[in-house]
Amino acid sequence: MMDFNFTGLSNLSAPTEEISVKVLILGSGPAGLAAALYAARADLEPVVLTGMELGGQVSLTHAVENYPGFPEGVGGNELVELFQKQAEKFGARIEFDTAVEVDLSQRPFRVKTYNVTYLAESLIITTGATPRHLDVPGEKALTGRGVSYCATCDGWFFKDKDIIVVGGGDSAVEEGLFLTRYAKSVTLVHRRDNLRAGQILQNQAKANQKMKFIWNSVVTEIIGKDSVEAIRVKDIPSEKEYVQPINGVFIFIGYSPNTQLFEGQLELDDKGYIKIGIQMKTNIPGVFAAGEVADPYYRQVITSAGMGAAAAIQASHFLYKV
Ligand SMILES: Cc1cc2nc3c(=O)[nH]c(=O)nc-3n(C[C@H](O)[C@H](O)[C@H](O)COP(=O)(O)OP(=O)(O)OC[C@H]3O[C@@H](n4cnc5c(N)ncnc54)[C@H](O)[C@@H]3O)c2cc1C
Repeated sequence: MMDFNFTGLSNLSAPTEEISVKVLILGSGPAGLAAALYAARADLEPVVLTGMELGGQVSLTHAVENYPGFPEGVGGNELVELFQKQAEKFGARIEFDTAVEVDLSQRPFRVKTYNVTYLAESLIITTGATPRHLDVPGEKALTGRGVSYCATCDGWFFKDKDIIVVGGGDSAVEEGLFLTRYAKSVTLVHRRDNLRAGQILQNQAKANQKMKFIWNSVVTEIIGKDSVEAIRVKDIPSEKEYVQPINGVFIFIGYSPNTQLFEGQLELDDKGYIKIGIQMKTNIPGVFAAGEVADPYYRQVITSAGMGAAAAIQASHFLYKV
């Protein structure tokens, strides 16, 4: 998955062209594309900035089985392509560009991208969230060489290998179970002595012959020259460390919302998520937020898309004053 780091981008030469839009949508995940569909059907001619990840997180997953309307399931990429097609059919414009600077102090809101500056009467922020890192030695250097944050993307590379999954929540267990399709063994390292994942997932994991558990432990180093060869594990109660040979490390320890751009301008909660009310309104009139950028709870395609639709309806009320 892409890592969004805007450090240093303020040094970019100032874009010259200015484009006025009624509704600008930041992000092309389920929330952004659902907002685009609703805004387009309200004749607001929305422009969607895709960011670095067209289709958002779900585009990385091979199968979505919990989005209504697809009884046989649907590929994540296919689903967001359908979202995009439907939004474009009604006039939404999708731009392969990323917001690098915003000024929300007055309307129209100014959003600088790599290419232009948008002057937006209304803004819908759907920039989603990014997986959290362990921040241990070896992690960065070995990312893409055995360290991964996406089972669907990289599981195939670990056929008949021994891998570690770090985490104990729903996504760690779900992704761990998915990885058992490929791997010889999947060992879940968790800092507590029980999982936080839902009971059904826990039962499935414990019943799976390929899954093992290392409780009360943390990974303190990922070791390897050109690829992952081992991890250093610390047993928390005894504080003893040991090295365990391993072929791959999948990290699922939560997400950070992509809200760095809005710090100091929008009200964020203590974890950095944009604070919104039930109507997707931020503290600035005309600025709405939807999906995982404002939702640390549900984290689903359907909830994100629903929030996106609601944000667009509110943007329409805001602009038409009805
Ligand atoms: C591997 C995996 C499998 C999943 N499986 C399922 C599943 O089966 N069912 C389910 O319901 N959910 C699933 N989810 C969760 C689901 O993908 C998310 O809940 C959903 O994608 C969130 O949508 P979003 O639009 O809020 O944000 P995201 O999908 O995170 O999209 C954020 C968008 O913002 C863009 N962006 C970021 N910064 C900028 C910027 N500065 N300027 C412009 N654009 C920007 C990104 O490029 C991206 O397009 C899965 C997630 C993962 C990672």
